[in-house]
Parts: sequence; C-alpha cells; structure tokens
Amino acid sequence: MRQQAQQKSVWYDRLRKVASYSLPEIPIIFAALLYTYSRDLQRSLGVIAFYYPYAMFGAGLLLGWRFHRSRLLFALLLFALVDRSLLTFVASRGFTRDHVAFQAMAFLLPLNLAALALTAERGVLTPPGLVRLGVILGQLALVAMLERGTPGPAAALLHARLLPPRLFAWTPLADPALLAFFVSAGLMVAGQLMSPTATGRSFCWSLLPAFLGFSAVRPGSPGFSTFYFATSALLLIIAVVEASYHMAYQDGLTGLPARRALNEALLRLGSQYTVGMVDVDHFKRINDSHGHDVGDQVLKMVAAKLAQVGGGGRAYRYGGEEFAVLFPGKSAPECLAELEALRQVVEEAKFILRSRIRSKRKKEKILSDRGPGQRVPVTVSIGVAEKDARHTKPDQVVKAADRALYRAKDGGRNQVQT
Ligand code: GH3
Ligand code: MG
Ligand code: MG
Repeated sequence: MRQQAQQKSVWYDRLRKVASYSLPEIPIIFAALLYTYSRDLQRSLGVIAFYYPYAMFGAGLLLGWRFHRSRLLFALLLFALVDRSLLTFVASRGFTRDHVAFQAMAFLLPLNLAALALTAERGVLTPPGLVRLGVILGQLALVAMLERGTPGPAAALLHARLLPPRLFAWTPLADPALLAFFVSAGLMVAGQLMSPTATGRSFCWSLLPAFLGFSAVRPGSPGFSTFYFATSALLLIIAVVEASYHMAYQDGLTGLPARRALNEALLRLGSQYTVGMVDVDHFKRINDSHGHDVGDQVLKMVAAKLAQVGGGGRAYRYGGEEFAVLFPGKSAPECLAELEALRQVVEEAKFILRSRIRSKRKKEKILSDRGPGQRVPVTVSIGVAEKDARHTKPDQVVKAADRALYRAKDGGRNQVQT
C-alpha cells in the first residue's frame, strides 16, 4: 500500500514538474495555432481578435510600468516595432523571401529577446535602460536603411545558405534568421537550467509565437503575424503576474510557501487537521558564532528537509526560524511519526562549515552537506496540535501547537511534543 502511494506521488511530482515548465504556455500557443487555422473560430472571434493585440500591448505597458518590469517593456517595444515595420513593408513593397529588412528583423528579434532574458532588470530611465533603448533604436535605424537602400553585402549575409535547404522551406525565414532563433532558444534554455525564473521561462516560450509570427507573413499580406506577436506578449504578461504571485506567496529565502500562503491554507482546512510548529534550536547561537549568512544557509537546508515531509503534510515558513507543517484531514497521532522523522532527518543532516575564498579580500563561510570541515549541529523542536473540541479555529490550533512547542523547548529541545 505504502509503496503504491509512494509510486503515485513520484508520478504526481513528475507531472507537476512537467506542468510547471509548460503551463499555461503550451495551451495558449496551441489555441493561437488553432485560431489561425480555423475559419469558424476566426468568424466567431473576429472582433475580439481585432482588439487582442491592442489589449495585450496596453496591458503589458501598464503592468511593466506599474511593476517596474523594464524587460517586459523593451520586449513589447521590440514586438510593436517589428509588427508595425512588417505591416508597412508588406503594404508598400509586397513580400518575398528575398526581403532584406524582413530577414534582418527575423535575425535580430530572437537575439534581442535572449539578451533581455539573460540579463537582469535594469530599469528604463536609468543609464543601462537608456543604453538598451539606444541599441533597439539603432537596430531600427539599421533595418530602415536596409529597407531603403539597394541590397548589398548585408543581403548576401542575411540570405547565406547554412542549413539543409529543404528542411525549412515551409518558413520564409532564411538560414541566418533560423539559426538566430535556434541559438537564442539554446541560450535561454541553458539560462533556465542554471537559474530558473518565471520571466526567463516566458521569454523562452515567447520565441515560439515570434517564430510563427514571422512564418505567417505571406506574399500579399502579413497574415496572422500581429496575432502571434500579441501571443508572445501575452506569455510575457502572464509571467509578470505569476512572478508577482510567487513574490507574495513564496518565501524568498527558503522557497517554501510563506506566511500568507499558510494563512489561506488554514482557512481552507476541513473538520480535521493537524498543525506542527517547528522551531530551530538555539538558532541565535548559530547566528552569533558563524554569522547571519551561515544562519540563512541553515534555514535553507532545514527548509529543504521540511519540504520533503510525508503523510500528506506541507511545510510553510512561519517567520524567522519558525516553520509550520499542515496535515489536512489527519489527526495528531497520525502525524507524529512523520514529524518525528523530520526531527531526526534534521538532527542527522550534516551541515558542514567551510571557507570559500570569493575574492582576495573577502573570506566567506559557506555551508554544505558534504566533505570535511567543521560540523554545525542543528536540531529542531516541534509542537503538535490538532483541531478538536477545545481548539476549533485555525488560530487556536496554531496557538496550541505553539504551547506544545514551548513544552518541547522546556523539555530539553530536539523533540516532538503534543
Ligand atoms: P530556542 O532554542 O529557544 O528557539 O533559541 P533561539 O536562539 O533559536 O531563539 P530566538 O527566537 O531567541 O532566536 C531566533 C533568532 O533567529 C533571532 C533572529 O536574529 C534570528 N533570525 C530570525 N530570522 C532570521 C533569518 O531570516 N536569518 C537569520 N540568519 N537569522 C534569523
Ligand atoms: Mg523562535
Ligand atoms: Mg529557535
């Protein structure tokens, strides 16, 4: 039974992981594709689709300005410039694969998106922000020159044959532009693997509709390119909303759900549940003898252990060096073994202190769980309470668990008390 439940949770975890990489992006891109191929959808959504790009651009501007997301603002500017230029070029000169300005834009846009994805928020009206703006406007001037001038060496470069000819015949993008998309995607995926963020992920996904947008241009019309660019903007906007949600509900240091998430989870609980309050023992001593940074690393490591709680429990950072573990639908006796296991896992974990020479002047202490070095003993005390006749409200149960925690401290620490 237990093995089956464990296997189920492994699959559940895997599914959640896959979903966390591809939701909601894949359904949105799929819906956009469906729209461009279904005349019925186009008929019934005509007016909405007409306003869709304006709505995305407006919403993105508002969010970017309000939340100081300069990268979103720059990406919107890029998409708007490419979109308007495509409309103008196609209207004035028609469109063929030989169009130099088109190939230049298809070459530059993915590289610009990768540059934005792989660099930090730097503001708009700041020196780095103004440099970015200058670089974008410089590229606009370059594309305009290519559009006006006679095709020269730039045209030859942008049409260089580098890939197997037949493989990408279905898209109007020439090989250098295709390669720019591939290289940008590779860089962004690598960036995500090294340090995953909601913004980085959305930039990565936004390449796909951007590519479809360029591919949608037809000899007589820009096709659905505007629609696809708006979809790229939508993905970037969703990421900003998602990142804001995470900031509010996730603890920045430990990555555990934060106090606000705990308060909401407490309100959702049913008629039976158990709360475990966990407090690191003599944490002040760890801070005092090894410094605040090492203290922070201890908190991270303890949090990582607590996150693995079994029995349907979920760990939250309550504040400071205190954590809460919720077990919905469980009585206190049913949770004791899981909490005792947590206490033991923390006690047995090897928090090893070592020095790392970061710079010549600064010798920084770091913690790890491997190798020789001074071991920092870390233990936790845990107080447990369940919902019962005396404690009917969540805050009463939390207070009861807190009292049990004090008993655990009084009893000598490193123990679980009910
Ligand atoms: P006890 O065994 O009784 O719990 O002793 P304690 O030293 O752990 O208890 P106390 O509550 O007095 O100390 C908690 C300390 O945790 C005080 C505060 O400076 C430190 N602290 C709170 N939040 C953080 C944090 O985010 N990082 C670090 N490094 N220290 C923190
Ligand atoms: Mg405390
Ligand atoms: Mg403590």
